[in-house]
Amino acid sequence: MDKQGYILTVEDEPKVQANNKKMLERRGYMTRQAYTLSEARELITKEPPRAIILDIGMPDGSGLDFLRELRQYSKIPVLLLTGYRETADIVNGFDGGCDDYLTKPYMFEILLVRLRRLLEYAEQIPEAITRGLLTLNLIPQKAFVDGMDLLLTPKDFAMLQFFVQNESRVLGAEHIYERVWGQHMGTDSQAIQNAVSRLRKKICGCGYTVTGLYGKGYRFERE
Ligand code: CA
Repeated sequence: MDKQGYILTVEDEPKVQANNKKMLERRGYMTRQAYTLSEARELITKEPPRAIILDIGMPDGSGLDFLRELRQYSKIPVLLLTGYRETADIVNGFDGGCDDYLTKPYMFEILLVRLRRLLEYAEQIPEAITRGLLTLNLIPQKAFVDGMDLLLTPKDFAMLQFFVQNESRVLGAEHIYERVWGQHMGTDSQAIQNAVSRLRKKICGCGYTVTGLYGKGYRFERE
């Protein structure tokens, strides 16, 4: 079961900690416990865990603030486990970057199945795609050429990702538009042309480019 690393449980209630530790370890997970957010920070800095089970009401601050802070630099899967059960709390949790949310009281089997899911999901997603000097970080979504952040907008990133994942294939403008804008293109083909020329300039020098094929669409390919 140990695929490398441990599950960090961040929780101030000793009973909940003890119970989760016992149950998780019985299922073959390695665990570490943090009773405060500052202990959690310390453990994460020393060795990033595979996943974090995080309480919101902590003695030295809010688990949600902690989550937002974590998301600035890490995509470690986080399951919020909390007594906060209002719709707004749950929405805030996901907006803050949690991967799953479970309210107390909870059944351990449910926690376990969600944790397993979250790990399977996180561990199969590639962290980055590289083509020549171009790197696409998928979480958080950032693109770099030779280490320089291209500062792409979310739409430009989505378009670049679509191109890279379809390397050497001709993609029609409508297909791209639907994928990136999430709607029919209508007569707005100028938006695609603008976005493509913006991208082309930004990725210039990476060894790949986006070629326009008149009347057919665009192709991401080696220069
Ligand atoms: Ca608590």
